[in-house]
Amino acid sequence: YSGKTANQLLGEHIRNLFVKDYKSRPIIVKENSSVYDAICTLFLEDVGSLFVTKESSQLLGVVSRKDLLQVSMGNNDLSAMPVGVMMTRMPNIITVKEEDTLYYAASQMMRHQVDSLPVIRPAQDGEIDVEIVGRISKTTIVKAFVEIGQP
Ligand code: ADP
Repeated sequence: YSGKTANQLLGEHIRNLFVKDYKSRPIIVKENSSVYDAICTLFLEDVGSLFVTKESSQLLGVVSRKDLLQVSMGNNDLSAMPVGVMMTRMPNIITVKEEDTLYYAASQMMRHQVDSLPVIRPAQDGEIDVEIVGRISKTTIVKAFVEIGQP
C-alpha cells in the first residue's frame, strides 16, 4: 500500500495527461482573410477563436469572438478589413507544446484569461517561425474532466 490518499492519486493522474494526446485540429485563417470570412469560419467550424497564419502554418496571432464582435460594432466594411490588423499578435500569444501537460495548459488559460491556446512546434535552431500543430481549448479540458470522472 502506497499510503497515498485518493486525492493525491487523482492529482498524479491529472498531471500525467499530455497536450499531445488531447489536442484538437486548429482552425486557421490567413492574415489577409477578411473579418467577414473569419466570422463565417467561426460559425462553420463551431469554435470560439481562430489562429492567424502567414501563407505557411507560421503562427502570427489569434482572433477571438469578442475581437470580431468589437470590430463589427464600429462602422467598418467587414469584407474589406483583414483580420491581421485587429488580431492579438505574436509575441503576445500564450502557447503550449505537445510535451506540456494538459494541467499546465489549463493553468495557462486560467492565468491569462483566454479560452484557447495554439499548440506549437517550437522554432528549430536559427529559425524564427513557430508552426501550429493543434489547439487546446476550455472544451478540451471539460472533455478530459468528463473522461476522468467516468464511472
Ligand atoms: P473571447 O474574446 O471570446 O472571450 P478569449 O477569452 O479567448 O475569447 O479572448 C480574450 C482576448 O485574448 C482576445 O482579445 C483574444 O484575441 C486574446 N487571446 C485569445 N487567445 C489568446 C492566446 N492564446 N494568447 C494571447 N491572447 C489570446
